[in-house]
Amino acid sequence: MQTFDIAIIGGGIAGISLAYFLSPHRSVVVLEQEGALGYHSTGRSAAEFTLRDNAPPVNALARASHAFLTAPPEGFAAVPLLIPRGSILLGTHGKEALVRRRFAEAQALGAAVEWLEEAALTARAPILDPAYCAAAYFDPDYWDIDVDALLQAYARHARRQGARILEGRAFAGARRAGGTWLVETNAETIAAGVLVNAAGGWADAVAALSGVAPAGIVPHRRTAITVDLPEGIDAGRLPEINEIEDTFYFKPEGGRLLASPADETPCEPADVQPEEIDIAYAAHHVEEATTLGVRRVFRSWAGMRSFSPDRLPVVGPAPDEPSFFWLAGQGGYGILTSPALGSLAAALLTGSPVPEPLAREGIAATAFSPARFS
Ligand SMILES: Cc1cc2nc3c(=O)[nH]c(=O)nc-3n(C[C@H](O)[C@H](O)[C@H](O)COP(=O)(O)OP(=O)(O)OC[C@H]3O[C@@H](n4cnc5c(N)ncnc54)[C@H](O)[C@@H]3O)c2cc1C
Repeated sequence: MQTFDIAIIGGGIAGISLAYFLSPHRSVVVLEQEGALGYHSTGRSAAEFTLRDNAPPVNALARASHAFLTAPPEGFAAVPLLIPRGSILLGTHGKEALVRRRFAEAQALGAAVEWLEEAALTARAPILDPAYCAAAYFDPDYWDIDVDALLQAYARHARRQGARILEGRAFAGARRAGGTWLVETNAETIAAGVLVNAAGGWADAVAALSGVAPAGIVPHRRTAITVDLPEGIDAGRLPEINEIEDTFYFKPEGGRLLASPADETPCEPADVQPEEIDIAYAAHHVEEATTLGVRRVFRSWAGMRSFSPDRLPVVGPAPDEPSFFWLAGQGGYGILTSPALGSLAAALLTGSPVPEPLAREGIAATAFSPARFS
């Protein structure tokens, strides 16, 4: 039987970023049930990096992640991980005051936001319908994340540092025996000192299979579609487009327009698929806010965004079993916060101080502890 210091359940961005930060210090195995890393939430995200759209503790994690993503360690990735995109935040008639308020708030934070009258709005995003957009501003602090490059870089370096990353390994249960975990998979039994739960939408199920109390992580389905852009529209130059109350968002994706109705439907953990109604809503928002007619949906998909009861991440040892460690509940921001959360989890698991970029943001070791729910 193989023995590791730490066994991580889940080969999404959470588990793989942790393997990267942890493997210089501990022997690590990652168990991923699917045949490829990032098959679930990580491979289905909208790949956005934003500094301001989330709850304050998440925005702090974003700021703490920004330096790693813009200037990762030498040789980490062959391509830039953040690509400047910028965003238009807009509201239709009746929402002008809200857009004004959000603009003033961003200005007060020192953001280089720019108010957009109609000509400036359509110059930045010629697809928008001025009849729909009553108020709008541009925020330059939005980036696309090259999610695949990031995930593969974490994995490549974790392997080089000695981590074993096993695909096609379904975790079936674990029990404590003589101060160690005996971890059952579809293929073998592995011994590990600590078990890390980075199982995304399945986090509570993995806890149950380990005899640990759930944290209350609930997956929520979110849908995205892509539609064709008209000739003459340069997708590369379009900004992201966010409705001010997050009722929809658009962004360029592979030369087409990605649209999401920002749906948030609680679901069972699964290989979730889009519902017809949510695809229709996404297309409706495109037709309402832009001058595009949606003749066909090129592609549609759905993925899970998994939230804890307070919608903040859950990072730390389980109150009822200190050798079971939670790294879950990253909601709609797990990619962009992965440098901060992966390095925080590695520090907690090795008994090291909170990493400098997080400490500078005032993030304490216990900031996201699962003990807050018990
Ligand atoms: C439509 C959409 C848009 C999004 N947009 C953004 C965005 O713009 N920016 C951003 O930062 N985030 C975004 N997110 C959220 C982001 O995708 C997630 O927060 C992140 O991917 C979570 O990573 P994870 O590793 O926890 O989960 P996952 O990627 O789901 O990984 C968990 C892994 O655990 C494995 N697993 C589960 N159970 C077992 C078991 N028993 N045995 C072995 N393996 C198991 C699963 O197979 C899975 O691969 C979006 C999500 C969606 C769905």
